[in-house]
Amino acid sequence: MSRYLSSRFAGIEPYTPGEQPQDMQYVKLNTNENPYPPAPGVIRLINEAQTSRLNLYSDPTVGPLIQELARFYKLRPGQIFAGNGSDEVLAFAFLAFCDRERKVCFPEISYGFYKVFARLFNLDDARAIPLKADFSIDPEDYVNCGRNVVIANPNAPTGLSLSAQQIERIVKTNPGHVVIVDEAYVDFGGESCLELIGKYDNLLIVRTFSKSRSLAGARLGFAMGAESLIEDLNRMKFSFNPYNINRLTMLAGVEAVKDRTYFEDCLSKIVKTREESALRLKEMGFEVLPSKANFLFARHPALKGEAYYRALKQRGVLVRHFAQPESIADFVRITIGTPEQMEVLLQKTREILHQEG
Ligand SMILES: *Cc1c(COP(=O)(O)O)cnc(C)c1O
Repeated sequence: MSRYLSSRFAGIEPYTPGEQPQDMQYVKLNTNENPYPPAPGVIRLINEAQTSRLNLYSDPTVGPLIQELARFYKLRPGQIFAGNGSDEVLAFAFLAFCDRERKVCFPEISYGFYKVFARLFNLDDARAIPLKADFSIDPEDYVNCGRNVVIANPNAPTGLSLSAQQIERIVKTNPGHVVIVDEAYVDFGGESCLELIGKYDNLLIVRTFSKSRSLAGARLGFAMGAESLIEDLNRMKFSFNPYNINRLTMLAGVEAVKDRTYFEDCLSKIVKTREESALRLKEMGFEVLPSKANFLFARHPALKGEAYYRALKQRGVLVRHFAQPESIADFVRITIGTPEQMEVLLQKTREILHQEG
């Protein structure tokens, strides 16, 4: 740390991304990426002709992508905002909507970035609300709570989800505050609250291309909500980084949205693999939370989470382990890979249980 850093930021503990090892080839099931490549149209389009145009600035309105998303989700273009990953969308939303009273709340166990943004944006009254004993979110905790709300639905790293009706109650009873619903994983079987957008001007849905659309490396996310909220997000963006979506990423996004068949095929493969993997893990004695996401959150009575994570890593399989908070330290989060990758995971797990369990 230099002596020039603002004291305001000195205490921030930055977000710790999952390991992205560049050395050896792992069976990589640790950061919820899609195991399938981007849609074929993406791969065809990012060619020499497009790359040679990188000397020109990208479209600050992200027009073609917004149009394509509007068509896909049956919204008006003015109801959609695009960001450099949904992390950036979330940052703009925190910046725009949470500063007014600096009161925000989110589940204590959820996407780690919410806590980091709360610190970064100086939200001195950020409340982390505990989960229930079964690791689910109690929607009643957020009903009428009189502050901004951020909820991942399905939640991470649990994979558990709320119904659209439960979300609606939270949105409806907090009319003075924006409710941000992070639907990063909703395509894998959760219930979206997209239908509510026309009805409430305080609902902002955040989505990403990183998981269900196989574009984690392209960095693309978006938000959907009332036109007034989208205007505010654009105000943030045009005051910070107007060309936030690069040319190649925008084209990749357009092609990914166009190919509905490929998208749905990938999703159904992953959901099928998820259900099969959950069953196999349970047969081995694991407790597996009922997931609506592209990962499983699981623990075994005879195996500490940390030990299981390490033993898998030694055998070339990467999963995610969270040492904190203690209530989830016995779990590991396993991204759903291809059936072949899951076969390796299950095989290595069996081996570990024999040796260490
Ligand atoms: C992965 C993830 C994100 C971030 O996605 P990017 O678009 O890659 O920035 C946001 N929220 C949740 C809950 C996630 O799991």
